[in-house]
Amino acid sequence: MLGAAQEVGRSGFLVDAGDKILLDYGVKLNPLGVEYPLDPKTHLDAAIISHAHLDHSGHLPTLFNHGNIRTYMTPPTLELSRLLWNDTLKIAAADDAIAYFSKKEIALAEKYTFQVPYRKHVEISHNSSLELFDAGHILGSALVKLNLKNNFSMVYTGDYRMDDTRLQTGANVPFDSCDVLITESTYGNREHPPRKKEEKAFVDMVQETIDSGGHAVIAAFAVGRSQEVLDVLFEYGIKADVYLDGMCQAAAQIYLKNPTYLRDPQFLKKAIHSVKMVSSPRIRKEVLKKPSVVVTTAGMLQGGPVYQYLGKLYGDPNSSLIMTGYQVEGTPGRTALDHKRLVIDGTEVELKLKIRRFDFSAHAAHSELLKMIEKVSPKNIVLVHGDRKVMFEFRDELTAKGFKAFAPAVGDTLSF
Ligand SMILES: [Zn+2]
Ligand SMILES: [Zn+2]
Repeated sequence: MLGAAQEVGRSGFLVDAGDKILLDYGVKLNPLGVEYPLDPKTHLDAAIISHAHLDHSGHLPTLFNHGNIRTYMTPPTLELSRLLWNDTLKIAAADDAIAYFSKKEIALAEKYTFQVPYRKHVEISHNSSLELFDAGHILGSALVKLNLKNNFSMVYTGDYRMDDTRLQTGANVPFDSCDVLITESTYGNREHPPRKKEEKAFVDMVQETIDSGGHAVIAAFAVGRSQEVLDVLFEYGIKADVYLDGMCQAAAQIYLKNPTYLRDPQFLKKAIHSVKMVSSPRIRKEVLKKPSVVVTTAGMLQGGPVYQYLGKLYGDPNSSLIMTGYQVEGTPGRTALDHKRLVIDGTEVELKLKIRRFDFSAHAAHSELLKMIEKVSPKNIVLVHGDRKVMFEFRDELTAKGFKAFAPAVGDTLSF
């Protein structure tokens, strides 16, 4: 376990079955800095990336500092990862921070990546093969099925949903047994609120803000969440101009380029074409001239264009700041949500605008995790990508149900 064990973030798992195969290699974005997965400390025969989110893909280019590794992922995962890797370099340059890789390693990672579509059997060596299946999490997200030496089979879920969301069809799980299932467990102890009700409350808040003459600033993660939000706003027909700012714009273009990976690409296309892109400082000023909606990064208020708007609107009780993702303890987003305070341009201010968070999660809820486990009926279950307490609770529940379940820590090795 190189990371994402008794924690969420920096996913990285090394499988040693003769061939040495790395599953994901991401970063953990903490309030006080970035945490990295452990060094695999071995020659790698292959690396497989489940999806583009930085907690799964963000540290991959560093591996190319020491040599080249055959890497496997879906075509949209490569496109989105490239966008996020380049953004990492931009942020590091702006903050005078260290980047552990450069443009050169990004180019190598691209060059050595085999783009694998869903349901295509690929040989890694004469001992090992892989197949990717739609995980229903974000564009191009994959469940990884490994067939290893002596017919040993392993499924790694990455992040997933079993239920359909607006953008993605629920996970495709066409197998009914395996020796080891490595599954995320983010929501191992809870359900999501009913999605329709959550959407309605979200749209009501946006429209009420417009009707009272304010601006609705919607903070969203660039990949996945911001597109989902546009879909919702379009369906309910908000009566105001909707703008899209920041990296959400480039991510939206990649979504449009990959319609076969989406549940309803035509609807998303209409939704994206109905909004105005903030492509210059002039348009950013226009946003604030009359009541409007702006969907922008960053998801947990850790920088990004959202500050351009909050700097002007923080004292306006008619405006609102709407968060659409989980806010990690200690992030500016969490402080804003819990204490209505935020540091803007070096000064801490009291937020007078309305603040609320909505749950549009793309992770499997507790019942979906069980559905996956029942479907795959694995001989062994390894829980990853969950907070320690949640993982322990879920492990105990699975053990009580008769499964052999593990909740290892970073640095642990499990043998099967
Ligand atoms: Zn993810
Ligand atoms: Zn994740």
